[in-house]
Amino acid sequence: MADKHYPTPMLDELENGPWPSFVSGIKHLRDDHPDERIRKVNNSLLGQLEHSYETRKGYWKGGTVSVFGYGGGIIPRFSEVGDAFPESREFHTLRVQPSPANYYTTDMMRKLADSWEKWGSGLQTFHGQTGNIMFIGTTTENTQHFFDEINEYGWDLGGAGPCVRTAMSCVGAARCEMSCTNEHAAHRRLVNNFTDDVHRPALPYKFKFKVSGCPNDCQNSIERSDFAVIGTWRDDMKVDQDEIKAYVAKKGRQYIIDNVTTRCPTQALTLNDDDTLTVDNHNCVRCMHCLNVMPKALHPGDDKGVTILIGGKRTLKIGDLMGTVVVPFKKLETEEDYESIVEMAEEIIDFWAENGLEHERCGEMIERIGLVNFLEGIDIDVDPNMVSSPRQCSYVRMDGWDEEAEKWFERQSEKASA
Ligand code: SF4
Repeated sequence: MADKHYPTPMLDELENGPWPSFVSGIKHLRDDHPDERIRKVNNSLLGQLEHSYETRKGYWKGGTVSVFGYGGGIIPRFSEVGDAFPESREFHTLRVQPSPANYYTTDMMRKLADSWEKWGSGLQTFHGQTGNIMFIGTTTENTQHFFDEINEYGWDLGGAGPCVRTAMSCVGAARCEMSCTNEHAAHRRLVNNFTDDVHRPALPYKFKFKVSGCPNDCQNSIERSDFAVIGTWRDDMKVDQDEIKAYVAKKGRQYIIDNVTTRCPTQALTLNDDDTLTVDNHNCVRCMHCLNVMPKALHPGDDKGVTILIGGKRTLKIGDLMGTVVVPFKKLETEEDYESIVEMAEEIIDFWAENGLEHERCGEMIERIGLVNFLEGIDIDVDPNMVSSPRQCSYVRMDGWDEEAEKWFERQSEKASA
């Protein structure tokens, strides 16, 4: 006999329109999953969600749920309307740390999915805002079973609460020609060193590490992490003049002038009469614009390293803060190099743990006590290359995006009908 479904007229509306809907995903589990328990849990979840939409109230409340030896990593969710929707009465989320740059084997993903179908609702998010894999929806009892099982084959919980949070790194050198450092090596060393601080929340507030391989900063580390490691170079960028000429021949001089040279924020580019390009490397601020427009012709230089920025964070209290350059350039090649950034991170976290107020991010503390005092506290000398606000706006102009999306959908339907 078919399962009885809660009616979901309001949620059904969210399936209209061109974008994929989370409602369809949950319905798929409700309708098609071979395991009756998973079908029922997801049916119950949809019922509660519809009820929330009808009454304009959220019915999840928190609590305390953890696995043995850990103080964080689980977001407890108990339903206040559990009598009406009993199968999702307890619906906790486990945050599990991703691999650096989110590389997985399909075999490993299947294993994780199998474990979650055994102990949870089958619902997963790759990845949540925090960077973790979010395993959404299980009971208090099954939380421990699921954790034990995945921990056995190598996975660990991420951070939640006032602690060192799950770190993130960009896709990196394995797939990106702009990469200037070994992002994953830095990520791994930082995470391994601070494992205790991830699992036992004892800091004033959250502390995040993010690693990006170049100033394009695909991890948004400058604005979303307290400790940002960003790859860069300090010699001259590499220019392939033949590729520049080919690009000029294809696009025309005016296009290059309008879209590349005049958009350089420091006017460091000159398109010469013979269609070659001169770069005033001394004035280039590594904004990456020209390299992104002409990726065949322009590449980062050979003398690569990283810049370390401290204090980025989003909104709340004093508003968005972009990281401040505290280490303008540092080679990251030898074991000692890696050790030295780990030591620096320890120094910063210790200083902030002692001096930060409750619920105060590291960047907010720096604002309050002053950058000079902070630098003195972590024993770093002031350097004129420390830029306090290397980037200022965290917003992206989105005009024209809908039109581009329309074009994409048209192309997809043309392909499908071809
Ligand atoms: Fe100018 Fe940016 Fe290119 Fe440097 S990277 S030359 S600042 S556009």
